[in-house]
Amino acid sequence: MPPKVNLEKCDGCKAQDEPLCEQVCPGDLMTLNDNQQAYCRATRDCWDCMCCTKICPVGAIETTIPYQLGYYGAKLVPMMGTNSITWTSQDIHGKVERFRIKTRTEQD
Ligand code: SF4
Ligand code: SF4
Repeated sequence: MPPKVNLEKCDGCKAQDEPLCEQVCPGDLMTLNDNQQAYCRATRDCWDCMCCTKICPVGAIETTIPYQLGYYGAKLVPMMGTNSITWTSQDIHGKVERFRIKTRTEQD
């Protein structure tokens, strides 16, 4: 599912020339609107890589889980750590689970 930008949180990467979500999108799909907030300009071309979701420094981008996997209302939100990424999933009943995955740079 294409990224959904929370306009309450997106600060346009504080007016950087090119916001982070735009920098990392392999399809060059993310851009800013007239209010300097991000949106996906071609949702049908998004292939759900979640790079934009992971890079956003303020957690403004959510990825909803496809209907076939989790029904509408379920979501998956990443939080980047220094050496790991924590994924929070929420199902349609509000049940929350978290999964912490080591990144390749983590030292044991
Ligand atoms: S990375 Fe986050 S804060 Fe920056 S423009 Fe994109 S959605 Fe907004
Ligand atoms: S999920 Fe990937 S392809 Fe889709 S808009 Fe974000 S960075 Fe681009």
